[in-house]
Amino acid sequence: MTPVAAAKRFTAETPIGRKRRARKMARVLTETHPDAHCELDFTNPLELAVATILSAQTTDVRVNQVTPALFKQYQTAADYAAADRTALETLLKPTGFFRAKTDSLIKLGQALIEKHGGVLPATLAELVALPGIGRKTANVILGNAFGVPGITVDTHFRRLTNRFGWVAEEDPVKIEFLVAELIEKRDWTMLSHRIIFHGRRVCHARKPACGACTLAPMCPSYGTGPTEAAAAAKLLKGPRARELAVAAGVDPELVPAAAVAAPDVP
Ligand code: SF4
Repeated sequence: MTPVAAAKRFTAETPIGRKRRARKMARVLTETHPDAHCELDFTNPLELAVATILSAQTTDVRVNQVTPALFKQYQTAADYAAADRTALETLLKPTGFFRAKTDSLIKLGQALIEKHGGVLPATLAELVALPGIGRKTANVILGNAFGVPGITVDTHFRRLTNRFGWVAEEDPVKIEFLVAELIEKRDWTMLSHRIIFHGRRVCHARKPACGACTLAPMCPSYGTGPTEAAAAAKLLKGPRARELAVAAGVDPELVPAAAVAAPDVP
């Protein structure tokens, strides 16, 4: 199928047709990324909140390098509330924007002590009222630390849901509500991880690997990146790059070793 034909196929799609296609794509993503998960290391909701705040403008890998020492020294909201600013800044420096992040963590600790007895609340409304926690961070916390389904609209989710033709929208909150209409609630948290994995490993911002993508037959944006297998296979990234090629019907030998070892993108 040519890219033009791919785009044309979906121009007359009905809302019910879109919902069916979205759910089918979600199922294919489940098979494509069986390893999808929250890539931030944490053992309790407070740690996840802290790690998510630190993940702004950096990679999860970088955050995971910093948090072991951080979580050893700062175990409670009170520890953050009473933190020595300079000492905390030094620990957070490798994550970038460390002054703002230090400020957020100290204020978060103080607000948790003042309003919630030092315990992280488990509702969206209470979480977004806390310093440093926006809707995206709140949904990450709800979905991954409290088991409450949440849709995490980050840069990958925004780009991919637009490319999928699920939404034609840039506003993260509107995207969240539109996708919530398409996908069953119980699948929201894992769908978010799978779309983020697909964005990091296959459907890149600049050059998506369309010719090595399991979603190609259902994607109106097929052709945004190279459709030829050899060119597309070179664009796959991550430890499962060769498995991703196989899943898309592409010869895994076309995936260069460097792609498998490629560093994580934010
Ligand atoms: S890589 Fe191409 S075919 Fe796959 S989801 Fe992205 S735009 Fe669509």
